[in-house]
Amino acid sequence: MRSRFLGLLGLALAVTVWLSLLVHTSAQAPLQIPPQMHTAVGRLGAVASVDARATQAGIAVLKAGGNAIDAAVATSAALGVVEPFSTGIGGGGFMVIYLKDQDRVITIDGREQAPATASVEMFNDPDSPDSPGALLPFAPNRISSGLAVGVPGTLAEWQEALNRYGTLTLAQALQPAIDLAESGFEVDATFAGQIAQNQERFAAFRSTQALYLPNDQPPAVGSRFQNPELAKTYRILAERGLNAFYRGELAEAIVQTVQNPPAVESPPFRVIQGGMTLADLDRYGVRVRPAVAAHYRGYRFYGMGLPSSGGITTGEVLKIVEGFDLGQLEPAAAWHRVIEAERLAFADRAAYLGDPEYVDVPLAGLQSDGFAQLRRAEIADRATADQAFRAAAADPLPFQNDPSPSLTASRLSAKISDHEGRSTTHLTVSDRLGNVVSYTNTIESTGGSGIVVPGYGFILNNELTDFDPVQPHPNSPEPGKRPRSSMAPTIAFAPDGTVLAFGSPGGSTIITTVIGIAVNMVDLGLPLDQAIAAPRISQRNGGTTQVDSGFEQSELGQQLSALGQILEPVPEIGAATGLIMRPDGSILAAAEPTRRGGGAALTVRP
Ligand code: GLU
Repeated sequence: MRSRFLGLLGLALAVTVWLSLLVHTSAQAPLQIPPQMHTAVGRLGAVASVDARATQAGIAVLKAGGNAIDAAVATSAALGVVEPFSTGIGGGGFMVIYLKDQDRVITIDGREQAPATASVEMFNDPDSPDSPGALLPFAPNRISSGLAVGVPGTLAEWQEALNRYGTLTLAQALQPAIDLAESGFEVDATFAGQIAQNQERFAAFRSTQALYLPNDQPPAVGSRFQNPELAKTYRILAERGLNAFYRGELAEAIVQTVQNPPAVESPPFRVIQGGMTLADLDRYGVRVRPAVAAHYRGYRFYGMGLPSSGGITTGEVLKIVEGFDLGQLEPAAAWHRVIEAERLAFADRAAYLGDPEYVDVPLAGLQSDGFAQLRRAEIADRATADQAFRAAAADPLPFQNDPSPSLTASRLSAKISDHEGRSTTHLTVSDRLGNVVSYTNTIESTGGSGIVVPGYGFILNNELTDFDPVQPHPNSPEPGKRPRSSMAPTIAFAPDGTVLAFGSPGGSTIITTVIGIAVNMVDLGLPLDQAIAAPRISQRNGGTTQVDSGFEQSELGQQLSALGQILEPVPEIGAATGLIMRPDGSILAAAEPTRRGGGAALTVRP
């Protein structure tokens, strides 16, 4: 139902129903699902997310006088109910905030953290004594294990954002989500489909089976789904706050679940235990970090810094292609250059980026004009058209003022790993004061670890699979370290003062989706909604460049193939959301129209 195109009449009707909903729905009334709307205009604030019910939760908060930070937390908490296979309190994320009155961009790192037991051998197969060091198969054993679970950061991130910049208490921000979990919501094709896609591993855990596979099947599309245990959990958090999660009752339940995953009697695969302890949860803290800034054709882009590679890699690509006049080139020639810049930047990402509390990352060199120039000079008019081709990392050392970082070790292992899933969700919010939030949150794979914490109704992440279990490597697992991410929540400022905010799900394709949206808007002049809907082109230093299915047959696709690009169609890349706010205060909010069933953008109506 989410992807259906509404005719004009239907749309008018929908707007009327929706407006009356906004006016008449009390927090306790059963939630009616408004028809999907992918774009919205207004002036008083906006929310864009992948789900109408979550967007509605954020809008309700804005209407009641909450600010963008309050609404972002409420929307995310609601997504934890209706999009539980992409995000939730069992996971982590990165939030970029623009505070209008201070004209300041802040980022909050709520990334999951490795327990003290983490080591480079953590994913070795214990049952493979003949080949010591052999890794457990990635799926299902690594991704559906206690081993893969990092200490969740989402709840601490919500609380930090509210404490510093919000106006609501955690209890108030959680209320719409509590109502949603309690009263239930209609199962749509995306929800049922994501369960079906995970059926084997969900059936391996008693708690997950009980919640998401009633009668051994996903709930029927159109049926009502309730999650009273998650409502109870959110209530505990509303009453007792962070301590209940990181120290109290929930901490004990999480540790118990990680150390003894609730596997069924004869699970279809080996379920490996993890070593997280209460001390690991107790030690967790979010980080408030400086944003990564990149200038691109007069725009100022602000993104997430390490441990996410999102802002840095996006910035490197934009800096490289800034040297080409993309807007004046033939489209195929322009996208060819973007693809090649992505290839090079992903080689550098793999070689150098990791948790900055553990590795010296040569950031000044990587972000310098000279380094971008060096990389730009490597881009030829045609690609090599070789499936086996991988670009090598370049050396940023000559571009560092302080050449002390331990570059030698990291350069030894420019190993390509691209196991990151296609899950995650991005939401974008603005308020009547002009504050903006761009927030990407995740539990890593679609369905995370597949393990619901028994009695508490939420799924634990499998974020530690984002580590590269080799050494030396900037992203090798270590105690307390945060795995390198690709999440790239972005806020940008146009030369005329227009504020743009956007982001995407999709593992490492997040970076290329964000670059694609930026190039489509800045260089090719597409409006935000069209840039979000546009075909995705994703090169991540692989032999092939992934594209939306069907794009390879298009004229542009064929022209790119003629330039030597090997295109690989894939089902879904990046269900993005975003908004733009013009200097006169007018807002356009936009959500993906079709991918992942389509999202919902709404603005506050007077
Ligand atoms: N684990 C991924 C990251 O942090 C996100 C998961 C996904 O998008 O599938 O980059």
